[in-house]
Amino acid sequence: VDFAAIEKKWQDLWEKEGVFQVSVKKNKKKFFLTVPYPYTSGPLHIGHGRSYTIGDILARYYRMLGYNVLFPMAAHVSGTPVASISKRIEEGDKKTIQLYREYVSLYEKDPEKVKEILESFKKPENVANFFAERIKNDLKLLGCSIDWRRFFRTNERYYNRFVEWQFKKLNSKGLLKQGSYPILYCLSCENAVGEDDIKGGDEIKASVMELQLIKFELEEEEGTYLVASTLRAETIFGVTNLWVNPKDELVKIQIESEKWLVSEASLIKLEKQGRDFKVLEKVQARGLIGKYVKSPIEGRKLLILPADFVDPDFGTGVVYSVPSHAPYDWVALREFRENKTYEEYGIPEDEVLNIAPISLIRVPNFGEHPAIEICEKMGIRSQKETEKLEEATQTLYREEYYNGILKEICGQFAGMKVAEAKEEVFKFLEQRGLATRMYEVSALEKPVRCRCGGKVIVAVLKDQWFLDYKRKEWKELARRCLSKMKIVPEVYRKVFEDTIEWLHERPCARKRGLGTRLPFDRRWMIESLSDSTIYMAFYTIIHLLRKHNIDPERLDEDFFDFIFLNKGELVDVAEKLEVRKEVLNKIKEEFEYWYPVDLRHTGTAHLQNHLTFYIFHHAAIFPEKYWPRAISLNEMLISEGRKMSKSYGNVIPLVELPKEFSIDAFRLYIGYAADLKSTLDFRRKELESLHPKLEKLLNLIKNSKKGKFKKTIVVKKFLSRFYKNLKIAREVMESLSIRDYIQLVFFNNFQEVSYLERRVEKEDLPKIIGFVAEDWLKMLAPVMPHLAEELWHQLGHKSFISLEKIPTKVEKYFDEEAELAESIVEEVNEDLRELRKLVKIENPRKAYLIVAEEWKYKLIDEAINEFKEKGKVNWSTLAEKFRGKDMGSIIKKFRDLSKLPKKVISRNLELKALREAKSFLEKEHKLKIEILKEEECKLEKAKKALPMKPAILIE
Ligand SMILES: [Zn+2]
Repeated sequence: VDFAAIEKKWQDLWEKEGVFQVSVKKNKKKFFLTVPYPYTSGPLHIGHGRSYTIGDILARYYRMLGYNVLFPMAAHVSGTPVASISKRIEEGDKKTIQLYREYVSLYEKDPEKVKEILESFKKPENVANFFAERIKNDLKLLGCSIDWRRFFRTNERYYNRFVEWQFKKLNSKGLLKQGSYPILYCLSCENAVGEDDIKGGDEIKASVMELQLIKFELEEEEGTYLVASTLRAETIFGVTNLWVNPKDELVKIQIESEKWLVSEASLIKLEKQGRDFKVLEKVQARGLIGKYVKSPIEGRKLLILPADFVDPDFGTGVVYSVPSHAPYDWVALREFRENKTYEEYGIPEDEVLNIAPISLIRVPNFGEHPAIEICEKMGIRSQKETEKLEEATQTLYREEYYNGILKEICGQFAGMKVAEAKEEVFKFLEQRGLATRMYEVSALEKPVRCRCGGKVIVAVLKDQWFLDYKRKEWKELARRCLSKMKIVPEVYRKVFEDTIEWLHERPCARKRGLGTRLPFDRRWMIESLSDSTIYMAFYTIIHLLRKHNIDPERLDEDFFDFIFLNKGELVDVAEKLEVRKEVLNKIKEEFEYWYPVDLRHTGTAHLQNHLTFYIFHHAAIFPEKYWPRAISLNEMLISEGRKMSKSYGNVIPLVELPKEFSIDAFRLYIGYAADLKSTLDFRRKELESLHPKLEKLLNLIKNSKKGKFKKTIVVKKFLSRFYKNLKIAREVMESLSIRDYIQLVFFNNFQEVSYLERRVEKEDLPKIIGFVAEDWLKMLAPVMPHLAEELWHQLGHKSFISLEKIPTKVEKYFDEEAELAESIVEEVNEDLRELRKLVKIENPRKAYLIVAEEWKYKLIDEAINEFKEKGKVNWSTLAEKFRGKDMGSIIKKFRDLSKLPKKVISRNLELKALREAKSFLEKEHKLKIEILKEEECKLEKAKKALPMKPAILIE
């Protein structure tokens, strides 16, 4: 089957006929569904494909439930990423050029053209425009049912005007501020950076952390300090020595009236964090080893010693040692002693052996020196075992932070909890000029680099613009908005709640990049995560602005206030805009009809930034009736067991998919292979294995016919199960369980069909399939729309199945009796197979199926009724009633009431089911079947017959 041809055909037809273009239909319920617009720095791949596929399945499903569904899309080009691509291409960066040559070649085969396009990429707008168009293409070939008239790019004038309005609103509400807060900053771009600008930004979770710097005065040089960085100032009471990295070069700087010794790498951070200093001279760290400093509080003499674990790039490149509570310090000290490294530096042995760990924190479950204990327990022997050391450090830190109490040795801080003392001790030192703060980058993976390749540090800029997510009133609005929203899967609600709490001032503008300038400070460009928070509102009107050729420069605050906030007078706004009142009214109507967003679907990577901002900004700007209603999320996609990466060769661009796979199979696979809250491990082989199933479906329905067929018990059972699956599938979709939906509608119903194929006569099958084909296709259409359209037309329809309604009144096919009756046949079939193995008769020729006597049905029926009514069965009363019958075996069998069937069918129906199945059973087991009634049969075995469980005898 040429799947690709079928797909192309329907994608073209949908577009040509404008099937998914929607507008206001006042008497029809609307459903507005969005998936975040993609970023235009390259082609979309299967990783992106997961969210878009799920989004489209949902859009199609709601459409076929009868909603007027708006599913729009746009292209995000704002910010610095696209600009840095251009810059690197312009600079002739080989890696970038090679990468983009590959990207462009996915869409363009002529090498001359590729060259031309690459050349044009020196302008950022051209990168953005090229990929904006290709992304459209990528989503079309996934079969996405998008209203493309509403497509836009975020650097269009119309969009600029909209974002300007948004920022004016935020500013007037006091939610924007200019100030000096620590931010992540790229040294090469000289710009604030966020998740979007950082390499692997969504995964490495870079953030700003605060370090405490503590000054240790050199004994022989008054006024000169070795400045150590720490996260735990309270441990100063247990300091035994200082560590420097012997390979490092330190720098002596004049800072106010003091001289500091710090690593060279820390200078740029101090500078960008607003420190004023002068570089005096370079000092080899090696030369300081063996000298003394004074501890800041007690003035104890401390040796300066070498340690390899000290990272010059972290903080000041100097640390102080607390071997009793810090695993790294203990291991370094021990190594220093054991390897006799002190000899190399000419430090007297007894000085080194005199260094004794000082215990200063009491913590439950640990003795005097917790760090020594934990290192021994984990068998850590060397500074090189960084993974274990990190784990030990984290464990101990947590334990001490929450449960630790400062000991007597800590003077006025004795008895204080570590959690409090950390800040108190620091303040004490700070007030005496012995400590100060510095900021450092915290991340799950280091080093942290900008997409441009530049190093990311923490800077404090003077006039940086921030969104003030810390504002109490704003947080309160966001909490309220979230509390009214549906979150699917619900487990993610807690993450949203936590994110709302910890979000603080966030830089929202950059000095470069594409997008929209801050309307009241035009030196600044609004960054990409800040210009994409309420743009869903813009989808509702953009096509009309274009259609009526409205001048973007006229779209001022009054216009947007009128459309989105219902402020101002129609006449005035229309006049200013120079459009007819009807046109303006129509624009307003579109917004008011479609808003709010009913469902926003995306990957969990967006939860802690984009989606939370989405909530914040809607709550700040729009009245409550326009706040978003629901968010659904899916986990990430990995490929062939590992994270997707070019170097593993496991990235498949969407544009390549049709070469190898059916898109419908891909969609089916994406929807089925994992539930929303699990990572999907994309396996090429598993996806391929769906192709034969699709071909079979195609053949079944192609060969189906209209016409009468025998309504035997097995057919009634088939219809009952088939339609029950459809009904349950609709129920599971209420919680967006696409995976269960596909299981029921596709896989379970396929199984029902396979059974039917064996059970009914050849000429009946196509007619039975013909009977269910339309309903089946309608239920499958949201998942496999191309094949569904193709088959729908082969069944003779002229309409698009995408616009049909999925079947609702399916209960009329439910037939419990038929299901029970056929279950007897299925069991007999199984029993025969088992029995044949057991009895070991060579070539058995005949089997007797013996149906129980009539009174047994009555007895069981009464027992069931009594059990339902009273929760128990009085067998002796029943025995009285059925006096003279041999009830022993029945009572024995059903003494455990859980074995009692829920319902018993009549003996006649059982007989009918078995008779109808006779030739099937004969064929399956290659023997003659005879069906007898218990009373007609003299065999001892016959007495074992029970209702719905005929006795079986083989000879
Ligand atoms: Zn950069």
